[in-house]
Amino acid sequence: MKCMIRHINSGGKLYDALAFCCPGCAELHDNDGLHVLPVNTDQTTSWDWNNDLENPTLTPSLLTGAGDPRGQCHSYLTEGKFHFLMDSNHSLAGETVAMPDLPEWFARKLPNDDQW
Ligand SMILES: [Zn+2]
Repeated sequence: MKCMIRHINSGGKLYDALAFCCPGCAELHDNDGLHVLPVNTDQTTSWDWNNDLENPTLTPSLLTGAGDPRGQCHSYLTEGKFHFLMDSNHSLAGETVAMPDLPEWFARKLPNDDQW
């Protein structure tokens, strides 16, 4: 499983977020590279998502770690593939990489289980 939708309750504000792993962030932070991003919501920070869990496309681009001394990760996610831009500070800069499966520990969670 590549992605899951999480139903987020943030202080009474309800919205959906897409959970997935980024291999670039995983390399920078030596973890699963898990992201849980608001999608198709009216949240201030939100991405447009094509409603496809297997071959997701998000717009605009994904930029994490800007200003972080460990480095930043910048990509376009298009039809389930990360296109890492050259301003990424990891070995995948300039590469196109298929989205990995979610880790087992995360995939077992229920859609309303916010406790990760
Ligand atoms: Zn990343």
